[in-house]
Amino acid sequence: MSDKNGQTRRFRIYFYGAVQGVGFRPTIYRLAKSLGVKGSVRNTTEGVIVEIEGDVHAEEFVDHVKSNLPPLAKLTGVEWHELEPVGYVDFIIEKSSHGNEVQALVLPDAAICEDCKRELFDPSDRRYRYPFINCTNCGPRFTIIKALPYDRPNTTMAVFKMCPECEAEYHDPSSRRFHAQPNCCAVCGPRLLLIGPEGEVEGDQIKLTAKAILEGKVVAIKGLGGYHFACDATNDEAVKKLRMRKRRYNKPFALMARMEDIERICRFSECERALLQSTAAPIVLLEPESDGMISQFVAPGQKKLGFMIPYTPLHLLLMEELKRPIVLTSANPTGEPIIFRDEINRLLKFADLVLTHNRDIYIRADDSVDMVFRGARYPLRRSRGYAPLPVRLPIDFRRTLLAVGPMMRTTFTLLIGRNAFLSQHIGDTDTLAGLQAEIEAVNHFINLFQVSKVDVVAIDKHPLYPNRSIADEFPDAEVIEVQHHRAHIAGVMAEHGLTGEVIGVAMDGTGYGDDGAVWGGEFFAGEIHDLKRVGHLRYVFLPGGDSSIRHIWKFALSILYELGEEPSMFEKKFGNDYRMLLGAIKNRFAGVMTSSAGRLFDAASYLLGVCEENTFDGEAPMRLEAAAVPADGRYGFEVHDDGNGYVLDMLPAFREMLQDGEDVSFRAFKFHRTLADGIVEVVRRIEADTGIKRVALSGGVFQNLTLLKMVVSSLERRGFDVLIHREVPPNDGGLSLGMAMLAAMQ
Ligand code: ZN
Ligand code: ZN
Ligand code: FE
Repeated sequence: MSDKNGQTRRFRIYFYGAVQGVGFRPTIYRLAKSLGVKGSVRNTTEGVIVEIEGDVHAEEFVDHVKSNLPPLAKLTGVEWHELEPVGYVDFIIEKSSHGNEVQALVLPDAAICEDCKRELFDPSDRRYRYPFINCTNCGPRFTIIKALPYDRPNTTMAVFKMCPECEAEYHDPSSRRFHAQPNCCAVCGPRLLLIGPEGEVEGDQIKLTAKAILEGKVVAIKGLGGYHFACDATNDEAVKKLRMRKRRYNKPFALMARMEDIERICRFSECERALLQSTAAPIVLLEPESDGMISQFVAPGQKKLGFMIPYTPLHLLLMEELKRPIVLTSANPTGEPIIFRDEINRLLKFADLVLTHNRDIYIRADDSVDMVFRGARYPLRRSRGYAPLPVRLPIDFRRTLLAVGPMMRTTFTLLIGRNAFLSQHIGDTDTLAGLQAEIEAVNHFINLFQVSKVDVVAIDKHPLYPNRSIADEFPDAEVIEVQHHRAHIAGVMAEHGLTGEVIGVAMDGTGYGDDGAVWGGEFFAGEIHDLKRVGHLRYVFLPGGDSSIRHIWKFALSILYELGEEPSMFEKKFGNDYRMLLGAIKNRFAGVMTSSAGRLFDAASYLLGVCEENTFDGEAPMRLEAAAVPADGRYGFEVHDDGNGYVLDMLPAFREMLQDGEDVSFRAFKFHRTLADGIVEVVRRIEADTGIKRVALSGGVFQNLTLLKMVVSSLERRGFDVLIHREVPPNDGGLSLGMAMLAAMQ
């Protein structure tokens, strides 16, 4: 405790981090009051500035703040200095002011809190069943904020004038809604609207929506970051109808269900439970124990189902009405961004009804997707609930940098100082709509974080990625090309706050290599900013360009050709196509060489009869993993040094796998183990050469937990320090972080 001596001192304290829109100022206010301190608190674009005057030292005050942090607040830094007392007469909350540089964090959207849930279902509460209930501890943030500082006029709630009761809460420091910017109620706030082909539908919108879903209809529902399509997940016909309308035939759908329903369907760990119930409320991939309840068309050929719990009051009301799981999938025509504006006619092309409301979404944000690996979060898509929280880099970049990410399932990163602000999921930018979505989001971030000048733009080395053109919007910026797989590795290091030496293993789908080949099974070593490629998977010819990524028999044929086989089964099945393709393979014509690990999974999946075609990105590898059942033994592989580094040759494994008489599920498993052992063998040789004991694992293929587990355990048993992703996805959704780090270090 401090020694109170009756002396009045004044301190100015700067709080940095997630301190706006989280009830930070009211917490400060209450603390100051309880400690009998005078002074002021105010939001600035840099963070929160507190002045205290009285018989309290800044250090003591800061300790109090730290032990009383509101649920959504996160401190990344605190500084203070002493000033001459000025004779404050009270403690006041000042109006927001503008500063120069934005370090204050824009908060992600947060799932409904327990207090609001209770009020929502309390008939005596004035917000009973009000679908837009929120408070300082929960509700929309990122998706409704137009600019900083985070105050109501800068949000899409600006058009709603608070009623006297809401206004009173907003100004009452003892209220949970003190300065809660989206505060509202049924009297003054947004309203629901149910629209069918004939126009507005009168009645209780929630009950009518539930009824329609139970009748097997598809309903578009406006969520936090965009529209979803919903249908009864236990109804085969409804799920099939949604698949036909969306033209998404196999890709797994996400589910929304109440906790008690998820408990009935899946067994899960405490970590998975905590993730489901976290304020981010992501989709969590879980293994169902009984699949009797959920339609088989929800996730065909997959072992896991993606569940989220109702995270807005609107979803909660609907799910309490339905009391059964629903499909809740982003409302987007396949390959295009999620619909977030009120394009009712467009939505009615897919849905029978649209449940909407008049609170605008300012920026779109898809749901996030997480898995749990070894008792901690392992992200697959970092978006709603996480974006735009920054990853703090181990380097201080004194300028502003934009990394635009790769072409597919991309994000971008805006690096300001040490803070790498990752965007929400942008998706595929190979369409005009997708590219436009990225440009809009980039402009929004630049405006939001008040960036006056982008100094550097980092782009993927692939010469044909359309989003490289975003660099043209910044004619004064220096443009730096970053090699895809080095960026994957740098991303892992960035998350762990590390620079220095590392062995990087990137097992991936597609990325442009230094030599113009399609890379995707790469080994690097050295300082993070100067990674040397010291090994790779053996090159195999990938015939037929992009179409062979979907039509996986083509690469399978190329593998068979390398093994010296010309299988007649292909000839029967593909006739002329087969003969043409075989000619192309023999002459290395119209195709590229590739070291991609993803393609090896495609080929194995095809040759084992597990999957015919990638109808969506990663389908064949996902099905191969789902098919694998633990078995003893593995196949052979070879490692040789070709003068430029190690070459890991998996062709012997294919030969043995095809001759193996065992069940497909065992062969699928042995394929995984062979690759894992091959990877570890190459890493051991690199360690022998370099002495580096730290390994970073990244790339989309490491979404495969069967492979990841084998590689991590095996490396750890051999004394390696193994780093994996925990904050951003190992797939291309996390790439912009590593691109930003590498470009900043150049
Ligand atoms: Zn709340
Ligand atoms: Zn009100
Ligand atoms: Fe990649």
